[in-house]
Amino acid sequence: MNVYDGERMAELLAAQGITPAPEGEDADLVVLNTCHIREKAVDRIYSDIGRLSKNKSPLIAVAGCVAQAEGEEIMRRAPEVSMVVGPQAYHRLPAMIEEAVAGRRSVDTDMPAETKFDKLPARRKVGPSAFLTVQEGCDKFCTYCVVPYTRGAEVSRPYADLLAEAQRLTDAGAMEITLVGQNVNAWTGEDAKGRSVGLDGLIRDLAEIPALKRIRYTTSHPNDMTEGLIAAHGEIEKLMPFLHLPVQSGSDRVLKAMNRSHSVESYLKVLDRARTVRSDIALSGDFIVGFPGESDAEFEETLSLVAHVGYAQCFSFKYSPRPGTPAATMDDQIAPEVMDERLQRLQAALQVSSLAFNQASVGRKCQVLIDRTGRHEGQWLGKSPWLQSVYFEGDVKIGDLVEVELVEAGPNSLRGRLLAV
Ligand code: SAH
Ligand code: SF4
Repeated sequence: MNVYDGERMAELLAAQGITPAPEGEDADLVVLNTCHIREKAVDRIYSDIGRLSKNKSPLIAVAGCVAQAEGEEIMRRAPEVSMVVGPQAYHRLPAMIEEAVAGRRSVDTDMPAETKFDKLPARRKVGPSAFLTVQEGCDKFCTYCVVPYTRGAEVSRPYADLLAEAQRLTDAGAMEITLVGQNVNAWTGEDAKGRSVGLDGLIRDLAEIPALKRIRYTTSHPNDMTEGLIAAHGEIEKLMPFLHLPVQSGSDRVLKAMNRSHSVESYLKVLDRARTVRSDIALSGDFIVGFPGESDAEFEETLSLVAHVGYAQCFSFKYSPRPGTPAATMDDQIAPEVMDERLQRLQAALQVSSLAFNQASVGRKCQVLIDRTGRHEGQWLGKSPWLQSVYFEGDVKIGDLVEVELVEAGPNSLRGRLLAV
């Protein structure tokens, strides 16, 4: 979502005549779009601010969730910063820049009733694979998580706006759209006929856009995985066979303490249903190790879950206490060295799983959407339907959707052989 927000801010500034600084030249204005989800991301911002103000002293804006959470604190700690703008207020950035040019600092962490989306200019040129925010915020209040505080309550963008923006994205060159939201599968809206629809209804209608070839969505919550959305994976060809469904832990006790409102069993049922409707679906998840009170045995349950599911790729994190969340003040915080060891073991297990998934794909023929050049001359990189990175050589270009045979697998990518353009 930060990538999407960053693109929208760049478009907004471009409409004011503010264009990207040429490579290697210092910028007059720097917008730091920040993430507050873990402490490490926050620490980096202050060192970035220090580094930026060493040379040319550009105008600095801090945007995103750290801005939302620490607005006034940033102003106090970093006098070099002249603008602090939260994720729901960035449409007001041009006015703040005018203030900053006049020497006045400003903070805007409002969550206004009017939506920023209506104030943003139309989409410009985009790459073959684009993001589209369909839903923001979260009402789930997992005990470790800052998102409900920084992004606010769950809000779905209107159906008509999304269809129009998707059309504009494809007009601007997108062939793949990833629908994004903190709880993307909680999206609801009213379709063109006034019927109430969920994310599967939206995907079904987006699939009718001829120039759009692939649809993905992220991130989903297990409890909002409706039967309709699961069924869509078996019915809509453009919906790619990939499901990112964070679980966080393989222990029911830990899940309860996290306020996840799903059990290991109910989670596995959703995965089973997804595999029933789409046998080749690639599964993905998020994990947190070292949640307060997590015992060795409970961590072992997470490893067992990983071995059982056979994930294609996952994200895994050390628990990071976030200010204002219930878990931050829980007893039994886990020692850093224990977290380190658990993360290492989990990541080793996830690597084994990814490698096995990729090895099982060798010999498959599939379409790859080329989105960048590779490391070597004449090499291209793209994504398989299962979101694997595939590299290969051939006379092609970025944006081509080509037929490739997968010939060799590593844990993070596959080598392919170009069959047809
Ligand atoms: N809404 C999604 C996840 C959004 S946050 C969901 O509920 O599944 C993305 C991921 O960051 C989470 O899935 C979680 O694994 C991780 N995360 C969130 N808060 C964290 C914290 N305090 N410490 C470590 N990881 C965290
Ligand atoms: Fe955070 Fe996701 Fe839980 Fe919401 S559902 S509180 S975004 S982890």
